[in-house]
Amino acid sequence: MDYKIVENSSFARVARMVLKSDNVAMVLGKSIHLSGVTKEVFLKNKAWLAHECCHIRQFQQYGFFKFLWLYLVESIKVGYYQNKFEVEARQAETELS
Ligand SMILES: [Zn+2]
Repeated sequence: MDYKIVENSSFARVARMVLKSDNVAMVLGKSIHLSGVTKEVFLKNKAWLAHECCHIRQFQQYGFFKFLWLYLVESIKVGYYQNKFEVEARQAETELS
């Protein structure tokens, strides 16, 4: 998987506030943006990495703006947890082990 990691990302910091989470990883295109977690710690968590790599594949599958749009629509319709893109990403976590 071809990706790059952005530590101390402003985007991830905003997501962290919205989700009220201590640490966040979020994918934009092929970049994984981190806030509240270092690259080292993130990469050691294979399930978490598998989850974010699934989002990278989703970006590739739908295209950048289309995926952002579909993700947003899903989140508004069914919320973060039931969002089908999150369901798929959580599935990727378990397939790993
Ligand atoms: Zn996710």
